[in-house]
Amino acid sequence: MKIEIGLLISAVICILVLVLTVNFWRENKKMLFSRKVKARIIKCEICSYVYFVSSKISYSRCPVCSSINKIR
Ligand SMILES: [Zn+2]
Repeated sequence: MKIEIGLLISAVICILVLVLTVNFWRENKKMLFSRKVKARIIKCEICSYVYFVSSKISYSRCPVCSSINKIR
């Protein structure tokens, strides 16, 4: 009986670890996805150079011609 309880406890621990790992992986995937969504693609109005910026800023400087582009 003692051995059976031990097996049951280890089985429960295994399932818990599995569930936690899956949840952690899902959260990481969500974070990566939301990061992707937050990044914006900006096309420079002056030289047509395409670059990526964070959506938190409203203005960005073109790395090629140094002109200021407004992020809509
Ligand atoms: Zn430019």
